[in-house]
Amino acid sequence: MFRNAFRSLPTAIREPLKSLLKRVAFRVDKEGELSLEQAMGWLAALRDAGVSFGFPEDLSAGRGDAPLAILKHDIHQNLDRATAMALAERTNGIAGLFFMMGPHRLNRKFFGSAKSWDQLRGIQASGHRIGLHLDVMDAILRRGDLYEEIAEILAGFSHAGIIVNYANSHGNTAFGKLGIRTGDFFVETARDVRVSEASGAAGKRLNEHLGQYSLKIIGERFGVHYWIDNRVLRDGVEVAPVVYVTDNSGAVKIPARKLSSKKFDIDGAFVAASTSALVQAPSLILLHPQWYAPGLRAAKQHQPGTAHFNPQILADIRELNLEVGGTLLDVSVRKDGFRYDFRLNRRRTADHLIVALHGGVAGARELPVLARWKQDSYFRAPILSFFDPLIHEHPNIPAGWFVGDLARDATASIAEIVRRIAAQLSIDSDRVVFVGGSAGGFGSIRLACALGGAKFISINGQTRIIDYYPSGHEPFSAVFDPAHTPHENAALHESRWSTPPGLEKALQGSAPLRGIVIQNVNDKHHFERHYTPFCARFGLALEGGYSSDKRLWSVPYEGEAKHGPETAEIARRIVREFIPELLA
Ligand SMILES: [Zn+2]
Repeated sequence: MFRNAFRSLPTAIREPLKSLLKRVAFRVDKEGELSLEQAMGWLAALRDAGVSFGFPEDLSAGRGDAPLAILKHDIHQNLDRATAMALAERTNGIAGLFFMMGPHRLNRKFFGSAKSWDQLRGIQASGHRIGLHLDVMDAILRRGDLYEEIAEILAGFSHAGIIVNYANSHGNTAFGKLGIRTGDFFVETARDVRVSEASGAAGKRLNEHLGQYSLKIIGERFGVHYWIDNRVLRDGVEVAPVVYVTDNSGAVKIPARKLSSKKFDIDGAFVAASTSALVQAPSLILLHPQWYAPGLRAAKQHQPGTAHFNPQILADIRELNLEVGGTLLDVSVRKDGFRYDFRLNRRRTADHLIVALHGGVAGARELPVLARWKQDSYFRAPILSFFDPLIHEHPNIPAGWFVGDLARDATASIAEIVRRIAAQLSIDSDRVVFVGGSAGGFGSIRLACALGGAKFISINGQTRIIDYYPSGHEPFSAVFDPAHTPHENAALHESRWSTPPGLEKALQGSAPLRGIVIQNVNDKHHFERHYTPFCARFGLALEGGYSSDKRLWSVPYEGEAKHGPETAEIARRIVREFIPELLA
């Protein structure tokens, strides 16, 4: 229904709306994500500095001396992430407002499902409050009457046990191009503006609604007294000024104070500066839950816990003695000037060893980055997590592919370390499973080959480094061998800069090497430039299946339209299906 209404809009309205929808949906995803843990660290820092998290009612009531922060979340695209954020806030003793839309393109994946109502009730039950996120202009154009739209949505919410006393609006920015904003439809906040005649029939229709609604009437009729965009209004009247904080651009910003975090990184400098700003005045903080990656999803960029990397330093891997040390062992082996940092998690024992490799490290808060080391209850096996030694030496490169450089073969050295550790754990090297995503997927294949008959699970991995974006392969090439261009290096060192040569050779040998390549079909770059040529070279079907000798296996899956970690469904299949199959 919305789609048809959307198509019937004139271009002058449809295009800006479309670009807004696109931006809301994909703007941040394309480039990176924020970390939920990091955001919670920031909110906890505000809380510890004396900021009190509360609700709009507290703004008029005053709350003694504690500066109030009203935390609000507009929910789009992903209710699971909103739920995760609500839970994380609750864990930190923080409550906020979660603004949910009625049926809309941006939530059609989940709106109205039994699960979504359960999730909203859960958010509400944990001390947060639910508000109505309203696409005012869409409602007017589609339905013709804003009050009717609000009445219907709220009836549905009420039927599901959701209490709503707050509202805010969605979609102002694109309509700004038409010269109007949401506030112009309400008599209390309307300016003397009109949509230009050039916008055609819909523009004319919008004009008919300008100034025709009242926030006071919405308060009286629906009990929705508070309207909270970048100010806090009660029945259309501003309650008190607040400092507005927003993550709209992928960074967290306080425009009035000219403060901003780094992009996709709520960095320490911002935490400190924002804390001293927000202890002085009441604030309104907008965070979009869909942009904050929790737990597993955070592993790519942020590694909670790795700050405590506290290694024993060895001049030679032969000095390693697993008889001593606890279940969590940090080691740094020095060789040829490289530091090989790894963490061995021995909380679980098994007849196989998981070796986890990280992907790109752009945005990592601290080094070393150690992927998946915490996932012992998931893998039910010991986990050895390696950090790429080239990145230690050159922290500015986004990825190193576990290759090393011209003079130093990091793959061979890591394979040697893995061999030693597996032997001390009494695990055969053909029961070592290398697991990694992206650059870690590339590394998993080359390491399994280097070890001999090991196994690999490459998730959205590269096939040839040179086919990865120049922003990744150029900095790598410059430290690999600055005397040559990336294309020269890729040609001169083909067996190190790509996976197929080594894998072909290993498959000709007698060692029981086996592996799986897993690819998100909606990660266009990796599907086309890495997975497709890999499958072609090894006789694998793009739609999934075994190679003729059953030693390789392709697994495509449907994920979000971007490069990132595996879905929860794939994560489940890895432990339940793929690893047992590889080791069978
Ligand atoms: Zn919105």
